[in-house]
Amino acid sequence: MAKNTYGPIPGSAIFNGVMGRKAIIMAANVRIASVAEGIFRAAKETDSALFMELARSECDLKGGYTGLTPHDFSERMQRAAKAVQFGAWALHADHITIKKGDTAEVAATKELIDAQIGAGYTSFAIDASHLFNFEGKTVREELSENIRITSDLATYIRSRLKGKEFGIEVEVGEIGRKDGEGLILTKPEEAVGFIRSLNESGVFPHALAIANGSTHGHTYDAEGNVIDQLSIDIPRTRAIARALRENNLRVGIAQHGITGTPRDLINLHFPKGDIVKGNVGTFWQDVVFNTLKVFEPALYKEIQDWTLEKYRPSNPGKKDRQIFDGNCKFAIREFFKDLYALPEDTEEAIRATAYAESLIFFKAFSSSGTASLVQKNQQ
Ligand SMILES: [Zn+2]
Repeated sequence: MAKNTYGPIPGSAIFNGVMGRKAIIMAANVRIASVAEGIFRAAKETDSALFMELARSECDLKGGYTGLTPHDFSERMQRAAKAVQFGAWALHADHITIKKGDTAEVAATKELIDAQIGAGYTSFAIDASHLFNFEGKTVREELSENIRITSDLATYIRSRLKGKEFGIEVEVGEIGRKDGEGLILTKPEEAVGFIRSLNESGVFPHALAIANGSTHGHTYDAEGNVIDQLSIDIPRTRAIARALRENNLRVGIAQHGITGTPRDLINLHFPKGDIVKGNVGTFWQDVVFNTLKVFEPALYKEIQDWTLEKYRPSNPGKKDRQIFDGNCKFAIREFFKDLYALPEDTEEAIRATAYAESLIFFKAFSSSGTASLVQKNQQ
C-alpha cells in the first residue's frame, strides 16, 4: 500500500530498519502544515526516512493548539507526501501525555488513540513520565505508575491495531523538569529499570525519551533573548545508551527539544545511533512566522497583538519579546483561517525555507540513505 499511495509506513519499520546505523531520524512537529512539503522533498532528495508528528497538546480530538485533529493532520501529511512521491515516513503521535493516571484520563486517552488509529497513525509515544513517585525507595517504586500506564496503553494500541506493525516510544524522566539545582536528568539505572519492567509486561518499545538537559521550545538568557541550547548532556546520553545495550535491552534514544541546538554541534558531537530519533518542533513554527514577518507584515502584527494582549497578564515581569516567543503557538488555532489561506508567494517561501533547513538537519543527523534502508528492510 505504502508504495502506491505514499501513505505512512509503520514506525517499527523505520526503527528496525536503521538499527545499528549511526543516524538520527528526524521527527518534525508540523504545527502549520505548509512546511511539510518542503521537508518531504528534502527527505526524498537526501534519501532520509522521516517521522511526521504532533503531540497531544498540539493535536487532539478538539484540534489542540494547532487546530488540527488527528484526521486533519493525517490527511495533510499524506497529501504533502504524495505531492513529492515520498513513502519512507511514519505518522507518529508525539507525547500522548498522561498527567494523573486516573480512570477518566485513561479512558479519554484511549479515545484519542482510537482516533489516531482511525486516521492511519503508525507510531505512538506514550508519555506518563509525569507520574513519578518521589516517595519511592527504588527505581521500580518511583516508576511504578509510569510503568503501569505505559504498558496498559501500549497493550491497548496493539489490540486495536489487530496484528498490524507499529512504532512505540515511551518516556522516563519528564523533559525540562527542574529542581533547585537545575534540570533533573535521567539516570542510566532508571532507563534500564523502566525498559526492563516494560519488557517483562510484554511491551518492547523502539525508542525511549529521556531527560538529558534539553527543553521544549527556545532557550532564553536572563534578558529573555533567544540563545543557543547547549545544555544537552552528551556523556549522560551515551551512558544511558550503553547501560541499555549492556543489559541487552534493544531500544534507542529519542531526543526531544532539538530546536536551538546548533546543527554543527549535532553533526560533530551527538551520539548518532545511540540517539535514533530527533524531534524538531518549534523550529518549523519559526520558519512560518519568520516568513510572515516579511511576506505578511499585517497578519504578523495581528498575531503579535493578539498573543501579547492575551498572555501579558499571566506573565508579569517578562519582556514582550519572550511572551510572544513562548505563546505564539497558541495563535495558530486563532489564526487558522489566515494561516491556511496564504498567498502562493508566501507559501513558496515557506516551502523553500523548510526544504533548505531540512537539508541541513538531514546532513547533521547523517540520515542520508536511511529511506532506502527502511524500504529494503520492509520488502
Ligand atoms: Zn517532546
